[in-house]
Amino acid sequence: MRFSDRKLEPVWEKVQAGERLTREDGLQLLETDDLLGVGRMADHVKSRREGDRVYFVINRYISPTNVCVLSCAFCGFARKKGEDGAFEYTVEDIVGMVGAEVREVHIVGGHHPDWPFEYYERVIAALHAARPEVQIKAFTAAEIDYFWRRSRIEPKDALTRLKAAGLQTMPGGGAEIFSARVAKRLRYTGKADAERWCEIHGIAHALGIKTNATMLYGHVETLAERVDHLLRLREQQDASGGFLTFIPLPYQVGTTRLVERPTPPTDNLRTIATARLLLDNFPHVEAYWVLLGEATASVALHFGADDVNGTLEDERVQHMAGAETPAGLAREQLFRMIKDAGKIPVERDALYNVLQVW
Ligand code: SF4
Repeated sequence: MRFSDRKLEPVWEKVQAGERLTREDGLQLLETDDLLGVGRMADHVKSRREGDRVYFVINRYISPTNVCVLSCAFCGFARKKGEDGAFEYTVEDIVGMVGAEVREVHIVGGHHPDWPFEYYERVIAALHAARPEVQIKAFTAAEIDYFWRRSRIEPKDALTRLKAAGLQTMPGGGAEIFSARVAKRLRYTGKADAERWCEIHGIAHALGIKTNATMLYGHVETLAERVDHLLRLREQQDASGGFLTFIPLPYQVGTTRLVERPTPPTDNLRTIATARLLLDNFPHVEAYWVLLGEATASVALHFGADDVNGTLEDERVQHMAGAETPAGLAREQLFRMIKDAGKIPVERDALYNVLQVW
C-alpha cells in the first residue's frame, strides 16, 4: 500500500502485523491529510474481519419522553415539562408503536423529573409480554445512572430487574465525549461521567447484557480528546468484553449551534476509519445513516464500517436536533445503501445473529 503521507507507513506495518495502535498513532490518523490512506487501512481491517458483509436490522426507535431535568448544550431534543413540543407516552402507547416486522426496539429518552423506576420496568415487561420475539435494547448508561440519582436504585439492581423484565441489550448513548473540560463547557456535568458510564457498562457486561458505545464529535472537542475517548472505550472492552458496536455520532448543528457548520463528510469518514483501527477489540463499527446521510454512510462502508444500523422508524433524538435525513428508511433503501457500496446486505438481530444474507 502506498501513502501520500509517509508517516502512515509505520502504522500500516502495525496494522498488518495485528499490533495494537497507540495514542500517537491515533492522533496521526486523525491529523494526516492522507484520508484515503487511513481509509484503506481501515477497510483492510474491516475486510479481514467481515469480508464484504454489512449488517442492518429492522428496528423501531421509541423515546418514551423528551422531558428532561438536564439542559445539555448540544441537545435539541429535550424539553421542560409543559413546554411546547414536550411529549410523554404511556406504557400502552409504547406497546402500540411496534409494527409487525420489527426485530429490535431501541428505547432512549429524557431524564424525566417525576417518573419512577417502576414505569420503565413496566414498559419493558409490557413490550416483552406483547411481543416476546422482539429484542429490547433500552436505556443508556446515563439513564441507568439517573435512576440511581432519582430513585437510589443501584445500577446492578436496576439492570437485574430490567433484564428479568425482558431487556436484552443496552444502547451506547450518553457517553458524549469523555472530557471533563468539554462536559463543563457543554453543561453535561449533571450526568454519568466517563468513569461512571464505563462502570455501568461493565456491570451490564457482567450480567450478560451486551451493549454499544458512542462518541459525540464535531463540536468543541479536540482531536486528542477523540483519541482519548476511543482508548478509554478500548480499555473498558479489555476489562469487561461486552461491547458489540461502536457508533460515532457527528454533532448536528440544528438550533443549538455550538459551531457554525456540521463537520464535513471527510471528517466523518476519517473518524470512522480511525475508530476501526484503534478499537481492535470491538466486533463492529457503525456508519449511522441518520447522522451521516445515506451517501456518506454508503461511502463509509469502504472506510471500516460494517453496519448501517437499521430502518429506525420515527427516530426523534437526532431529528429534533436538526438531522435532515428521513425519520426512517425502508428495507429497500438500506439495501441500496449497502449494494451501492458493492457490499453484501446481511439482516441481523440486536445480538448480531444473522437472519438473512441478501
Ligand atoms: S442529551 Fe439527554 S440528558 Fe442531555 S438534555 Fe438531552 S435528553 Fe436530557
